[in-house]
Amino acid sequence: MFFGGDPFEHFAHGHGGGGGRARRGPAEDVDTTKLYETLGIEKTVDEKEIKKAYRKLAVKHHPDKGGDEHKFKEINAAYEILSDPEKRAKYDKYGLEGLEDGGGPGGASADDLFSMFFGGGRGRRGSAGPRRGEDVNHPIKVSLEDLYNGKTVKLAINRQVLVGEPKMCSTCDGQGVVVELRQIALGMVQQIQRHCHDCEGEGYIAKKKKERKVLEVLVEKGMKHNQKITFRGMADEKPNMEPGNINFIIQEKEHETFKRKGADLLVSKALSLNEALCGFAWIIKHLDGREVVIKSKPGEVIKAEADGGKPFVKIVANEGMPSKGNPFVKGNLYVVFRVDFPSDNELNEEAVKSLKTLLPNPAMEVEYDEETAEIVHLDTADVKNFGKGGVQSHDSAYDSDDEEGGPQGVQCQQS
Ligand SMILES: [Zn+2]
Repeated sequence: MFFGGDPFEHFAHGHGGGGGRARRGPAEDVDTTKLYETLGIEKTVDEKEIKKAYRKLAVKHHPDKGGDEHKFKEINAAYEILSDPEKRAKYDKYGLEGLEDGGGPGGASADDLFSMFFGGGRGRRGSAGPRRGEDVNHPIKVSLEDLYNGKTVKLAINRQVLVGEPKMCSTCDGQGVVVELRQIALGMVQQIQRHCHDCEGEGYIAKKKKERKVLEVLVEKGMKHNQKITFRGMADEKPNMEPGNINFIIQEKEHETFKRKGADLLVSKALSLNEALCGFAWIIKHLDGREVVIKSKPGEVIKAEADGGKPFVKIVANEGMPSKGNPFVKGNLYVVFRVDFPSDNELNEEAVKSLKTLLPNPAMEVEYDEETAEIVHLDTADVKNFGKGGVQSHDSAYDSDDEEGGPQGVQCQQS
């Protein structure tokens, strides 16, 4: 029987689920109990009990307290696998061999794990688990609000399922390909391998049907752009193959107020010069709907730019995004300020007079000889034009060839 019955058995969290023995030939003889035995627990226990059992044993067998080092390593390896729901589900289904791709504890290979638990290599074991079908990726667009608050989205998928037992294709003996011999000349035979038409290259002939399935996609608080939410084995069922996964890939939508990087958020705020100097209060609607009033402290001055010409930035601590896995630890909210100065003539003479006495460091009187000194005024300008003044000459031998032309856009070339 191929994955008939309860489709939820393929979910990553294989709790309960009748012991999760693999139901297929090659995986039938694998051991899926050794790790549980190592921790002295039943296969049906929950994560809490696993942790409890582990702690007890780890203390008892710790080498610092005279415990056996090998035993201690075994306990740690068993715990590392069983405490991870994904690895545990794989182990329940395919034994240690199923952990081959994911890597074992501390990056140990399946071979290391085998020798750790069974001694020696694993030469006696047959195939390394069934082949796995391709994963299917579906992007899902998620708003920043939903990534902040978390959300469950119900999504319907159409998947191919097998009906009844697939039969091995007799034309190709389950190989998916047939070999034909063709005589191309006397005594010369060409061997051609071609795709088997009877089973469409699958090696098995099975009745298939489409099944509509509603998946509950849990968008966890603090998830990030391009993060995957995996439904193990939910891709199309194919004969003699473990179905691939369906992955929903988070695509964070742009937000009109907040920009996000990691767990930090950033907003921009323009202040008038008056607000920048004399104080301000500003209400933002946070991603969970809260109204947050950002208020300057008495005497706090917001500058037009920070040292080195960088934007002037302050933070509100712990008002960023929740961290995935621990939503109580939040990033920070960065505020980038822009100070809008008054325009020319916006301040009347009286205001200027008062400001001059009120603001620190007023202009000093300068002394000059009225007969010889020249008084000049300023025009508006763009710093990009710096260097473009005067008549542009085109005869300098030092002009490099790839330099953009002057104001006329002419390139100078020697001919
Ligand atoms: Zn065939």
